[in-house]
Amino acid sequence: MTRSYALVDCNNFYVSCERLFRPELKRRPVVILSNNDGCVVSRSQEAKKLNIPMATPLFKVEQLLKRHRVEIFSSNYTLYADISSRVMQTLETFSPQVEIYSIDEAFLDLTGLITAEARYDYGQEIRQTVQRHVGIPVCVGIAPTKTLAKLANHGAKTYPATNGVVDLSRPERRDRLLKITPVSEIWGVGKRTLLRLQHMGIHTAWDLSALSIKTARRQFSVVMERTIRELRGEACIDIDAQPAPQQQVICSRSFGEKISAYAPLRETVCEFAARAAEKLRHNRQLARMITVSVRTSAYSAEDPCYANSASGSLPSYSNDSRQIIARATSLLQTVWKDGYRYAKAGVMLSDLSLDSPFQPDLFDDPSCRARNTALMKAMDQINHGGSGSIWLGGQRPQRDWFMNRAHLSPAYTTRWEQLPIVS
Ligand SMILES: [Mg+2]
Repeated sequence: MTRSYALVDCNNFYVSCERLFRPELKRRPVVILSNNDGCVVSRSQEAKKLNIPMATPLFKVEQLLKRHRVEIFSSNYTLYADISSRVMQTLETFSPQVEIYSIDEAFLDLTGLITAEARYDYGQEIRQTVQRHVGIPVCVGIAPTKTLAKLANHGAKTYPATNGVVDLSRPERRDRLLKITPVSEIWGVGKRTLLRLQHMGIHTAWDLSALSIKTARRQFSVVMERTIRELRGEACIDIDAQPAPQQQVICSRSFGEKISAYAPLRETVCEFAARAAEKLRHNRQLARMITVSVRTSAYSAEDPCYANSASGSLPSYSNDSRQIIARATSLLQTVWKDGYRYAKAGVMLSDLSLDSPFQPDLFDDPSCRARNTALMKAMDQINHGGSGSIWLGGQRPQRDWFMNRAHLSPAYTTRWEQLPIVS
């Protein structure tokens, strides 16, 4: 059977979250800064038009921001993670198979769910429902493969005439979009690959889809081969083979069998946390924020429904499994409720930073950090050596530590004392 995927991606997600509670900022230029107010990580459409580049350090654009009265926010990951889980919860009602890809994107498997003719309208319904339930604008790309769904989403964002939904089920539409899309926009094509492709005269997505599989495998890798097959409409990227998102590390799965007791749910969440920590080390990154989410199935008529998530900081930027598992456990305790049959859980690590060059904070002991790094490395080697694995137990919960966030918005949705007031 031909597969069908929808990629739902929130528009300017962090900015959209801030605007939810500051509606007067609609149509005004807004930027969000990364951890410790370092770089621009999210821009509103208006800010993009002012040519404020992504990932620029604040000091370089401070004058420009002032001149245009751009509204500045520090990253409020607690807010974003909470809004994200509300978006995901809404998406779960549109497909029994929702795969959270990043904080603001999810793949919905629509295979066998709706007819080809109804797909565009289904996309519109998804958009309108997320807007109505959560207040966040999204775009929807629909296609027979994930790589094409990503491309369709890019088309929906780029061309206003699409009204936010592009369906590439028909090959003519697919080919038309492939021909006008630069190859740099294709999922998984990084900077280094891009240079090599351009050197070979491959500039559009269409050019890439026409590259022979043999050449792709010989000159690049099996990953490139998969990308090309996907561009031609042959689904071959599954959850474990897909390119990692850059701004978060996520481990989220549905369970084979529903879980109704705390101990096995904790074990599962700890395992997800350990896997996420491992991915983080593999990417040579550190994280500051962690979110744990749990939910029952949206498709079971007899079971009561419950979904919740909680976020918290790690004691400092870390990729130490022990710290990440300990925090995941303490967060799980805050969302756990007796009497439900849990169907899915997830661990997301956000507020990421590269592990080198890393600026340690005041409370960091460098010798201790070196020892921990060596320990984690040894652990990864054992766990990938095939001779069994090492399991970590829970630790004492940590308190939140201070960090520099001068422009932080309130935790509108997760702290009683910071609830927005309507007068
Ligand atoms: Mg987005």
